Amino acid sequence: MNLADDLIARIAATGPMTVADYMTEALLHPKLGYYTTRDPFGAAGDFTTAPEISQMFGEMLGLCFAQVWRDGGGGSVTIAELGPGRGTLMADMLRAARAVPGFAEAVSVHLVEASPTLRATQAEALKDHDPVWHASADDLPEGPMLLVANEFLDALPIRQFVRAEAGWRERLVTVRDDALAFALGPVVPVPELDHHDVPEGTLVERCPALPHVVSAVAERVVRGGAAIFVDYGHWRSRGDTLQALRDHAPVAPLDAPGTADLTAHVDFEAVARAAPPARASAMITQGVLLERLGITARAQALARTLEGAALEAHVAAHRRLTHPGEMGDLFKAIALVPAGAALPPGFDE
Ligand code: SAH
Repeated sequence: MNLADDLIARIAATGPMTVADYMTEALLHPKLGYYTTRDPFGAAGDFTTAPEISQMFGEMLGLCFAQVWRDGGGGSVTIAELGPGRGTLMADMLRAARAVPGFAEAVSVHLVEASPTLRATQAEALKDHDPVWHASADDLPEGPMLLVANEFLDALPIRQFVRAEAGWRERLVTVRDDALAFALGPVVPVPELDHHDVPEGTLVERCPALPHVVSAVAERVVRGGAAIFVDYGHWRSRGDTLQALRDHAPVAPLDAPGTADLTAHVDFEAVARAAPPARASAMITQGVLLERLGITARAQALARTLEGAALEAHVAAHRRLTHPGEMGDLFKAIALVPAGAALPPGFDE
């Protein structure tokens, strides 16, 4: 069976589907979904994420969390990750934070992962840490918690709306000439988008699951600890950012669902809005965060142990993670802490 044919039959029977429903099927269909069926990362896969580019990404975040833990007085804490991919980020964080006395003994590792394929990869990467898996952030233990999510929110399904004079028209997935195609639905009110004062014809995206996920995290963080979200995105959604990647190249989002990664930019204002009763930091760029956490000193120390092609790859990785025009500017970070608590190192108000 092929997922495109399955969706075409379903739309013929029950009508057009939202972009969010399409994304859910394409990414998480139990038999044919993108994440369910493969390990998408790295040179042989479809895309590369920051922790797969260099161990330094996880090391900086691990030391940042260890500092938050010490500032909070130590004690048992859950260290959690949403969408851990290959488990590389968590493994790098735990390895770096081992340098901080007591941390390794204080943490228990919890992972939120939908894909059975990736759970198996994570089990191998984290076999010394006895991780516990959950299907959703709602199932995580109650706080205190140190939580990281890198490129997780961008995989959550979005709905797309185009501004019309009297309201909004939803962009839907339908069937035209026996193929999946976009169409616009009727004009409807969407009160959640009322704060978007945009010209007619502008497309705005909404991620219905995002406030829910952020609230579940905030509820835990208010008991102590911190959460850090890192993702591709901006302060406020504007324009069509639905993107499909196959083999490191962009493809049409409706082309062969289940065989390409689908993401949309994260609306960081929506993260900040969902943060209370936790407190949100300002949004900063990944490059600024990593520089403030000391990535350059770490890069220099690592460089002294390398030569030849390995040294060149290391220098390129540092550049890719931090430089403007590369991930340094395109990716943003935001932190959540208990109301009244200091922000994690690297973040500001
Ligand atoms: N954080 C990793 C992987 C990012 S890819 C890294 O930086 O390398 C997105 C991850 O989120 C994958 O592990 C994917 O399987 C998982 N994922 C996507 N949607 C999910 C959902 N709704 N629930 C749980 N996990 C999800």
